[in-house]
Amino acid sequence: MKTEKIDVLVIGAGPSGTVAASIVNKAGFKVKVVEKMKFPRFVIGESLLPRCMEALTEAGFIDAVKEKKFQEKFGAKFVKNGIICDYFFADQFTDGWTWTWQVPRAEFDKTLADTLEKMGVPVSYETTVTAIRFDGSNSVTIIQDANGEESRIEARFIIDGSGYGRVIPKLFNMDKPSNLPPRKALFTHAVDVNRSMADEPNRITIVVHELGVWIWIIPFSSGITSVGFVGDPEFFDRYPGNTNEQLRQLMESQPYLSERFRNTEFLFEPRVLQSWSSTTDKFFGDGFVLTGNVTEFLDPVFSSGVTLATVSSQMAAHLVIDKLNGREIDWYNEYMQPMMQGVDTFRSYVMAWYEGTLDTIFFADDQDPLIKSQICSVLAGYVWDTTNPYVANHKNALHKLAAKIEYRDNLRKIKPI
Ligand SMILES: Cc1cc2nc3c(=O)[nH]c(=O)nc-3n(C[C@H](O)[C@H](O)[C@H](O)COP(=O)(O)OP(=O)(O)OC[C@H]3O[C@@H](n4cnc5c(N)ncnc54)[C@H](O)[C@@H]3O)c2cc1C
Repeated sequence: MKTEKIDVLVIGAGPSGTVAASIVNKAGFKVKVVEKMKFPRFVIGESLLPRCMEALTEAGFIDAVKEKKFQEKFGAKFVKNGIICDYFFADQFTDGWTWTWQVPRAEFDKTLADTLEKMGVPVSYETTVTAIRFDGSNSVTIIQDANGEESRIEARFIIDGSGYGRVIPKLFNMDKPSNLPPRKALFTHAVDVNRSMADEPNRITIVVHELGVWIWIIPFSSGITSVGFVGDPEFFDRYPGNTNEQLRQLMESQPYLSERFRNTEFLFEPRVLQSWSSTTDKFFGDGFVLTGNVTEFLDPVFSSGVTLATVSSQMAAHLVIDKLNGREIDWYNEYMQPMMQGVDTFRSYVMAWYEGTLDTIFFADDQDPLIKSQICSVLAGYVWDTTNPYVANHKNALHKLAAKIEYRDNLRKIKPI
């Protein structure tokens, strides 16, 4: 069997894998990426957050992405029964990026992977990892190419960015269910001829359909818009028929969508994804680190996926470089704990969203501009800025704020103030 010797093997050429590969390559190590699919390939996750721009910049990808003229995104609009709550990243509390993009992922991910190859990092497409054996932190990985031919890779370290493939957690029985209940998404790309160019397409719109059910509207610069419903799996059982019929009925039932998307062409038969939340106890081990979705993917509502994927890779890549340079790494305190700080902040917001706590905050009258700017920073992905009380106290701050708003509104009902 053919054997190749490298420093770092990266599994997966999604945003997580390519960002990590680029940073490690820049430090002078021999890196190789293996990717199961042929690119471009479809993946969902199209609305980015400003924080991921820092990772894309460090990886050297930002100029190539700019050239693609993807739709620029400046904020997030939340809608409930016709009431609108707009967050603009320019108003955020943390000193960071104030914009990002909305991207068809097939093209975005291919741009990152092509740029990586131009930097000299080989990407083997249609190549699957089938087995890994660790010997201390060195490893031997068996890969299989499109012709079924197997070969060996000897690496000093592995970065697993295999997303929903979860290569190392599956091979080593590390998977465990997330603490979030299972949810389902039904989505397509629609030809958006009725788009209002005055009001959109410069931000994501999130529509509250009913408690626990919401819709994403993510316009692309091509005139195509990604539209998806998310809710409990049982919610979708109310709508009979195939996925196309289900999505048409759902769109018709929601006043915010019905006129705009009536009779619109769908670019593909609406797809379903379900029960995507999964995690593992440890994001690292002797000879490997997990990055991106392999660590934990929570929920699509705040578009955190690509940001957590690229930021985890940025953090992990630096530690891998230090490790290969001979430094002893405390993976728990230097990687897993800081990553969990970000993931857990988003987790509190996701839970508050599904409970309705965030509805009370987002759609309240007279919002405090400072608090709004602090929540805006979380929505921009700055979930590591612990000078922000809505990051530092993420577990309690939202409930306290919602309780205050409810108390004030109740007082107003009794006696106008
Ligand atoms: C319904 C839904 C909506 C979402 N919306 C958003 C959003 O608006 N914004 C956002 O930021 N995120 C969103 N996400 C999350 C987003 O999809 C992911 O977080 C993101 O793609 C993670 O990037 P990644 O690089 O970790 O993994 P991926 O992008 O999944 O890339 C992993 C790669 O690894 C490859 N691979 C898998 N197994 C193997 C193997 N055995 N060998 C070799 N290669 C392998 C795969 O083919 C894939 O190309 C959404 C998710 C869902 C479910």
